[in-house]
Amino acid sequence: MKAALYKGPEKIIIEEIPTPEPGDGEIQIKVHSTGICGTDIHLYKGFKVGMLPTPQNIVFGHEFGGIITKKDKNVPGEYKAGQRVVVEPNIGCGKCKTCIAGHYVHCEKGQSIIGIHRNGGFAEYAVAPHEKVFLIPENFSFSAASVFEPFAICVYGLVRAPLIPGDTVVVMGPGVAGLHFTMLARASGASKVILTGTNQARLDLGKNIGADVTVNVNEKDLIEEIMKETNGEGADYVFEAAGVQSSMENMVKIAASKAKVCIYGIPVEPVNNIDFGEYLFKDITIVTAAGAQNTFPQAIKIVSSDVVDLRKVISHTFSLEDIERAFEVVDRRLDGVAKATILINPDIK
Ligand SMILES: [Zn+2]
Ligand SMILES: [Zn+2]
Repeated sequence: MKAALYKGPEKIIIEEIPTPEPGDGEIQIKVHSTGICGTDIHLYKGFKVGMLPTPQNIVFGHEFGGIITKKDKNVPGEYKAGQRVVVEPNIGCGKCKTCIAGHYVHCEKGQSIIGIHRNGGFAEYAVAPHEKVFLIPENFSFSAASVFEPFAICVYGLVRAPLIPGDTVVVMGPGVAGLHFTMLARASGASKVILTGTNQARLDLGKNIGADVTVNVNEKDLIEEIMKETNGEGADYVFEAAGVQSSMENMVKIAASKAKVCIYGIPVEPVNNIDFGEYLFKDITIVTAAGAQNTFPQAIKIVSSDVVDLRKVISHTFSLEDIERAFEVVDRRLDGVAKATILINPDIK
């Protein structure tokens, strides 16, 4: 089969490799399309993700869907060839205390992530343990499957810190997660959704998919604008999906008393000037959302109900042969890119 192999920093090459056979308890999937995530770019540039090292010659891609083509004899009977599926990439050891409690994303031995530590979805076929393969209905498109994983993480954020209908919401960072959370907040009954960031094309996209107000922080004062939009109270819910110093410093300053702050963005370096006194005096609830922990089934129900259309965040689609160009476009944010996906087997339905 054709696969995109990582050959070291900023080098991905298409090669012919043996089609992976399902191992014990595994399912083989013919991949329809796979999203390029910020994490893929991070890896592409040679940085490590998680506790385990990234091997050479690995196939990246942890956001994908497709159809079941084969399964190992130890896979339960409900999985059948031809079924439409989406894959959850996070795999824990299954044996440590944290995994046994169901928190495999925080496995004590370091999780082994599909598309990061083992071969993933930038290939014609992929394999995954059956516990990580979720059936999706007809009206859940494969395009939605290729951008689904960050959405399931947004749902995890809401499970940890629920949004109350009528809440005012600020989403910081109009990347894919920020855009997904904008749709999710809208669908959850937010009275106002304010999307903030620096990328005007993505802010404009946010406005089309549910943001009432957008604030370009290169042009306007963030705190002033949020206070103006919330009658001087601050937001009831802040979703931080930028992961940069300025947003992490400001997230409490734009929050109302008793607000919830959910951190999704991963800061590349330690953040300074966090005023914990302000968190204390405002009685803020802070949660983090790293990985979709047990929220795939819930998130699949949301997408299948057509309450949100995840495909709206996809701005670019490339073929597998053009993957290097695709990584370059995403990395350098060319051409107003929001989310790019690699279409691998467009023929499957
Ligand atoms: Zn991702
Ligand atoms: Zn574990």
